[in-house]
Amino acid sequence: MPPPQIARVALDVPLRRFFDYRVPEGGVLSTDDIGCRVRVPFGRHRKIGIIVDLAADSVIPLAQLKTFEVVLRDLPPLPADWLRLTEFCADYYHAPLGQVMLSAVPAGLRSLTPPLERRHRPSAAHPVVQPAPDLTAEQSAALAAIAACGDGFHAFLLHGVTGSGKTEVYLRLVDATLAAGRQILLLVPEINLTPQLEARVAARFPAAGLVSLHSELGEAARSRNWRAALTGSARIVLGTRLAVFTPLPELGLIIVDEEHDASYKQQDGVRYSARDLAVFRAHQRRIAIVLGSATPSFESWANCAGGGRYRLLSLHERAIDGARLPVVRRIDTRVDKPHDGLSSALLLAIEQRLARSEQSLLFLNRRGYAPVLACLACGWISRCHRCAANLVLHLFDRCLRCHHCGFQAAVPKSCPTCGNQDVSAFGRGTQRLEAVLAERFPQARILRVDRDSANSRRQWEALVAKIHGGEADILVGTQMLAKGHDFPRLTLVGVVAPDAALFAADWRAPERLFAQLMQVAGRAGRAERPGEVLIQTQFPDHPLYATLACHDYPTFAMTQLGERQRAGFPPYTHQAVLRAEAPKMADALNFLVVARASPAVLAHPEVTLYDPVPMRLSRRASLERGQLLVESASRRILQRFLALWVSQLDSVRLPARLRWHLEVDPGEF
Ligand code: ADP
Ligand code: ZN
Ligand code: ZN
Repeated sequence: MPPPQIARVALDVPLRRFFDYRVPEGGVLSTDDIGCRVRVPFGRHRKIGIIVDLAADSVIPLAQLKTFEVVLRDLPPLPADWLRLTEFCADYYHAPLGQVMLSAVPAGLRSLTPPLERRHRPSAAHPVVQPAPDLTAEQSAALAAIAACGDGFHAFLLHGVTGSGKTEVYLRLVDATLAAGRQILLLVPEINLTPQLEARVAARFPAAGLVSLHSELGEAARSRNWRAALTGSARIVLGTRLAVFTPLPELGLIIVDEEHDASYKQQDGVRYSARDLAVFRAHQRRIAIVLGSATPSFESWANCAGGGRYRLLSLHERAIDGARLPVVRRIDTRVDKPHDGLSSALLLAIEQRLARSEQSLLFLNRRGYAPVLACLACGWISRCHRCAANLVLHLFDRCLRCHHCGFQAAVPKSCPTCGNQDVSAFGRGTQRLEAVLAERFPQARILRVDRDSANSRRQWEALVAKIHGGEADILVGTQMLAKGHDFPRLTLVGVVAPDAALFAADWRAPERLFAQLMQVAGRAGRAERPGEVLIQTQFPDHPLYATLACHDYPTFAMTQLGERQRAGFPPYTHQAVLRAEAPKMADALNFLVVARASPAVLAHPEVTLYDPVPMRLSRRASLERGQLLVESASRRILQRFLALWVSQLDSVRLPARLRWHLEVDPGEF
């Protein structure tokens, strides 16, 4: 057989195909080059691509093919299972394979001018080795159940209440996997919020060359860490959703912490779920995967039911001797009417904490000072002119800001339409709550924690250090504060205004609210001091709060899943959503109408297509947005339909500035 003449190359372009290139004069190709990066001419530019296959000939006549410039052999080729993973991702999410592959590679390794590597000094100080504590009976049982399953693909859902010691279970599994000479992939929702975990892993396994991968890392560091994973010098990779694509030739275990967290979903570009890809990857490599959470996603919970795909492991008790779950009390705000957002019961509880030098946390999931500014004389309200949304009042830097597009304007001194001097702020955000508390408790040190005050990892770590150092008496914060943090002096959690989510149009809102409240409640009483959670609500008897008060996630999940089954919602049906954006809503909706009339639709009567409608946020950054929901009881049939449909949509002629995309298993819409 003649040697292969042609390299088939994946490129980062929005086309569902590969590109063939000829071997340059004097060059040779071998199968060892599959998975290597390659520099090629493309149009009037050059690009870095990935060789996915070799071929003896092409559909294009040889003489017309361009020649590639050079195969980059500075890295070992990407392994076959990595190529297969990206291929699965492209198939399942119906994204162009070249885009999936190239966006999975750190920018430094796919750009023509790699970032300058500053001299890298590996941290000289070796972390202090931390001895492992004795396991609790529940931890031992969970580990024994995992060990008993032996080698091969096994998916476990580790459901453990906050503080039950899920991390210790992970660390023991990591230990065993390292001892077997395999690599570990540990995924976390947001690395910013989990510096403690990184430190704990590094301290337990100082010789494992732990590397982290997340978007805040500089390009050079990201490339370096990726290389360390690929060459095997890093035995543990700790990262956010993008790390699911790290090449790990000796992968032996995957752990997904807080598996229910929405940040595992990529929301633009290639829209994937890192958790679901992680399960695929474990299956592909025939290894174990552990999904951990105090409030698992309903999808995962349903996967454990009767002979399901996952095996459920439960930790019901807190790991530290004597640490109990907090007492949850509901404050009926119809009776105990809040002033400035705070009921007398909550105020009293804060006072008691101040007297005992303990910390309180007030949870309000809305940042800014007030969600809207309005004029009572003429009815003007602060709207974003680019989005179908209000501008949020931020008092500290005196501006009105859109939380969807980032638009910013100065706070007007008087009403822009009628000149009335008396414009007022309506509703309450964290800044306003902070101001109210400062007035009520002038002696208290108050710390606000939200995206405005903790924007970078450095700011966040400084805030956490302050909290740990006892430099704050009252914390006011959004869900940022709810995530995986131990604050030993914290004994009171006040949930200020959670009710809106009970009746939100988004049917996933209760699941999210329960998870948030469970997590934030879990911050109270982590050490030997008992904790208390006060929930201000007009609906104290609502089943969501009732199950929360007994920390009863299983009952909550069972009721909600029952409702979803009756209503035919996921996970009992499978969905995808086609979205279109254009300067005019009519264009966006018209595209969806055309899409709904595609031949693929007629060929798949088992797939339901709903009517095209404007999205809830119907305009963002000056683009009107519409969507079309697609549903089928069978994932397989839905997938078959989507593949055909997308290929037909690719050839629809689009009006200027119209963009569309498909999202499979959409989270929110
Ligand atoms: P989770 O991730 O389930 O919320 P963590 O793993 O953070 O819980 O553990 C909560 C606390 O319990 C931590 O301070 C941890 O050091 C401690 N802990 C975990 N396992 C044990 C154990 N077996 N014995 C004593 N303390 C433990
Ligand atoms: Zn006015
Ligand atoms: Zn806007």
